[in-house]
Amino acid sequence: MPVLFQDLAAPGVQKLKPYLPGKPVEELERELGISNSIKLASNENPLGASEKALQAIQHCYRNINYYPDGSAYKLSEKLAEKYNIAPSCLTFGNGSNDVLELIARAFLTPGHSAVYSQYAFAVYPIVVQATGAKANVAPAFDDKHKTMPLGHDPDALVASIDDTTRVVFIANPNNPTGTWMDAETVEAMLNRIPASVIVVLDLAYLEYMDEGLKPDIKHLLDTYENLIITCTFSKVYALAGLRIGYGISHPDIADLLNRVRQPFNTNLIAQAAALAALDDEGHIRQSIKLNNEGKVYLQHELDKLGLAYLPSMGNFLAVNMGQPAAPVYDALLNRGVIVRPVANYEMPDYLRITVGTAEQNNRLIEALSGVMA
Ligand SMILES: *Cc1c(COP(=O)(O)O)cnc(C)c1O
Repeated sequence: MPVLFQDLAAPGVQKLKPYLPGKPVEELERELGISNSIKLASNENPLGASEKALQAIQHCYRNINYYPDGSAYKLSEKLAEKYNIAPSCLTFGNGSNDVLELIARAFLTPGHSAVYSQYAFAVYPIVVQATGAKANVAPAFDDKHKTMPLGHDPDALVASIDDTTRVVFIANPNNPTGTWMDAETVEAMLNRIPASVIVVLDLAYLEYMDEGLKPDIKHLLDTYENLIITCTFSKVYALAGLRIGYGISHPDIADLLNRVRQPFNTNLIAQAAALAALDDEGHIRQSIKLNNEGKVYLQHELDKLGLAYLPSMGNFLAVNMGQPAAPVYDALLNRGVIVRPVANYEMPDYLRITVGTAEQNNRLIEALSGVMA
């Protein structure tokens, strides 16, 4: 009898569905025999990395024969200063997704449950299921909701917590919807969550939020000891390919996460680039401005095409095609425009479109107009 490796896997792993990433540009072009295609599929920063980060890479790449600093000392010091926290509050990850995984491994077992919203970021189900823990999925607001269709419903999230719940995952803003909770709503919700439940507030798109909506990170950490905030260098800092992110929490939580963490999980080049990217305020400002302008342009053009989209504080829009989105996705591919179908999120009529440069946004709208005609 041949061995069925599926049966050997941990129960949670047996039921996992593989995450399907956006298609790499080279692969698409090879498949379709085209060139000059654009990728607006993975919420990357279309401006490119900061020149300061690129220079930092130039300065350090000859040292890659050495292991990185396992404690990321310089980056810890810089972030501790940025947030006015102790370096012992930090946990670094190979992307913030790695931190999400550390949290699941540190706090979840098959006897526990985790809570996240319907339509929440796809990595939460993956890290939860792999531990064998149960997922309590909180219903999101429905698509008729006045202000935040398909957004996280704080009441439903709180109601989904039961005696076995160890972790609640909240993406703010959420991907793929772009929906958000304002600072007051977040705090009101935190007030209703027992102190023995870890709350993960995933702020991957924080910098893109309107100033008045942003949570006060320091205040939240001082007030809620059960809170873990996760941040990434993949989005506005434009270092997605290097894989680096971090969690901020009470030092006792960070201590647990760091025990689970592989000592050299963030690499030498990523640490150096992240350190430099933090200093390039001009690049961050420019990235945010490009995103805001691009989003307004796209929304305006989508309105003209009669296509509805969800409100978004991210660098992307979830656009309702008013029909199954798969054929639209394919037709856009054929015109060299890669976007993201989100049927895996139970949103089969939507495409998630990353805000690009002005030129890329133009091309997207041209292609979309052609496809819809
Ligand atoms: C992109 C994204 C991240 C970032 O993941 P990295 O592993 O840091 O690249 C985290 N959370 C959400 C909701 C995201 O969309």
